[in-house]
Amino acid sequence: MSRMNERPARRADLRIDLAAIRHNVAVLSGHASESGARTMVVVKSDGYGHGASTVAEAALRSGADWLGVASIPEALELRERGISAPLLCWLYQHGDDVAGAVRAGVDLSVSSETQLLDVVAAAESTGHTARIHLKIDTGLHRNGAPAESWERLVALAAKAEADGAVEVFAVWSHLACADEPGHPSIETQAERFRHAHERALAAGLRPLRHLANSAALLTRPDLRFDMVRPGIAVYGLDPVPQEGDHGLRPAMTFRSSVALTKRIAAGESVSYGHSWTAPTDTNLALVPVGYADGVPRSLSDRFSVLLGGERRPVVGRVCMDQIVVRCDDDRVAEGDEVVLFGPGDRGEPTAAEWADELGTIHYEIVTGMYRPRVTRTV
Ligand code: PLP
Repeated sequence: MSRMNERPARRADLRIDLAAIRHNVAVLSGHASESGARTMVVVKSDGYGHGASTVAEAALRSGADWLGVASIPEALELRERGISAPLLCWLYQHGDDVAGAVRAGVDLSVSSETQLLDVVAAAESTGHTARIHLKIDTGLHRNGAPAESWERLVALAAKAEADGAVEVFAVWSHLACADEPGHPSIETQAERFRHAHERALAAGLRPLRHLANSAALLTRPDLRFDMVRPGIAVYGLDPVPQEGDHGLRPAMTFRSSVALTKRIAAGESVSYGHSWTAPTDTNLALVPVGYADGVPRSLSDRFSVLLGGERRPVVGRVCMDQIVVRCDDDRVAEGDEVVLFGPGDRGEPTAAEWADELGTIHYEIVTGMYRPRVTRTV
């Protein structure tokens, strides 16, 4: 924590604590290996805003075996950065660079006959065997093959494997309500998943199984199967805090510093629309971050920051480039560090607190923070 204070905050700075990432991956992969499962760390969407390749490298040194991303460009970027670990990509469409992914040794998820044909064509054009993970839709009804087409997809994949075009590495699926332990859909999906795997075995395939995201990994050891796919928990944000403390450490801190201090008289109002009026003569601190830097305007008059060792309220509207903090003492000076959110261990707000206030989830907060005027440091 003392390290946080060593460097002065820049205008708007996302500080990524790689020691926290390493700790979280060690915790999560420790749980996985207790169940004999491998760990695929999900680094899609630029590592949930933390920096995909930086997180990937830290994770691979701390117990992760695999990486997972949504899109082919995300996968290829990791390869371009020299990351050679097994890597699954699950969201692409006809016309995407499937051949590039196969050439780069990226595993591809296959949910339909069209996708299988695309991958087989890519394998033939590159001369590589493509490794695939057949995805069954067990009830999320997003990606994945519907149950009615599963038998046919599995049969076609078995044929493509026999022809040497593909290797069917895994059967996989994704849960809809894992963050609500006890939700009946979890059992339904798990049952459909087991059945889909059995059908793949019956077709002569020998795939591994993976189903669990962070929430399922933490709450359902029986659903860890052969591999788990934690995302949010890697970044230290708990998807199931109601289930107790899972020992995770949030890795992202959003900081700025005081640009200007001033005193206004009682009765004067602050920022656009004059939504807040000083009840007494008041010291103010101007902080040069605003909604263009990821501070939601809808937090106006509803949040606080850590400044000078205390929580202090942000008063008036959040502007594009600035916010104003009320200081009831005169201990705040220009250049002082301002923490907008962080792990919470110094008393600062957390991303989860912002999310609760905004009626959203901490996933959305952290993935939306890295913007053109924001620096990101590790
Ligand atoms: N697996 C898939 C297919 C996903 O889309 C995601 C993220 O949404 C994850 C795993 C990781 O989920 P979580 O961040 O909840 O651990």
